[in-house]
Amino acid sequence: MAPRADTAQLWPLGRECAVAFTFDFDAEEAWIAGDPAATERPGRLSQGAYGAKVAVPLILDVLARHGVPATFFVPGRVAERHSGRVAEIVAAGHELGHHGYTHTSPTALTPAQEKEELVHGMKALSRFVPSVRGYRSPSWEITSHTLALLAHHGFDYSSNLMDDIRPYLHPGTGLVELPVHWSLDDAPHFWFAEDEWSKKISTVEEVEAIWRAEFEGIRRLGGCCVFTMHPQFIGRPGRLPLLEAMIALAQETPGVWVAQAHEIAARARRALASLTGAS
Ligand code: ZN
Repeated sequence: MAPRADTAQLWPLGRECAVAFTFDFDAEEAWIAGDPAATERPGRLSQGAYGAKVAVPLILDVLARHGVPATFFVPGRVAERHSGRVAEIVAAGHELGHHGYTHTSPTALTPAQEKEELVHGMKALSRFVPSVRGYRSPSWEITSHTLALLAHHGFDYSSNLMDDIRPYLHPGTGLVELPVHWSLDDAPHFWFAEDEWSKKISTVEEVEAIWRAEFEGIRRLGGCCVFTMHPQFIGRPGRLPLLEAMIALAQETPGVWVAQAHEIAARARRALASLTGAS
């Protein structure tokens, strides 16, 4: 097992933990990937269209007002369909990360298709940034090929796995993992199951309590709190104050380093490489 860095090695002087605000800008693709026939259902797709049409500008406004550097993971097809929005994200200084080309889980693809998705997605994002450093799979699922594929294509980090609360190095690849968790994702709390009507939509108070507890626990343990939000969910008018509350929590708690995912990965990589003797 790879060595784990302690807090003093991982974070900038005087900081005890890191926080990344990350947004998976799925737009319509989250609905199309699971059901290609959804392209013929504008009502269904409108749930994702809201993200591009209304939510992203609202979120960019919140981030700008609070001076928060964030990371947006964007599927290639979203970058093609909503190129204006993606250009706004980049112009505001936020990081772009890879989120598949069609928002299909790599576990549903052959190795050749997985490679094709990765390359296609990189090409779509290359219109906006010289390179993408991070990969977040649609669904957070990776295959036994994914890490080698990412390393081969020059990625610096993956943000998909739930086996730690601190960044770590994937042995033999040089890739940093920035661990995530369902509890810090807005989708499990807010995504309504419209086919079954079986799922309750959580209140912002419930989610705020879960997020505060998880943030506090990760802070105490010197970890990295990776918030994963989706414009179509967190960008509803009643939920934007929750985003603002989490930003205030991160910015007002002493010892917290708020940074983009690639900055956290770069810092962790240096600290962890010195432990393993790797370069
Ligand atoms: Zn997604």
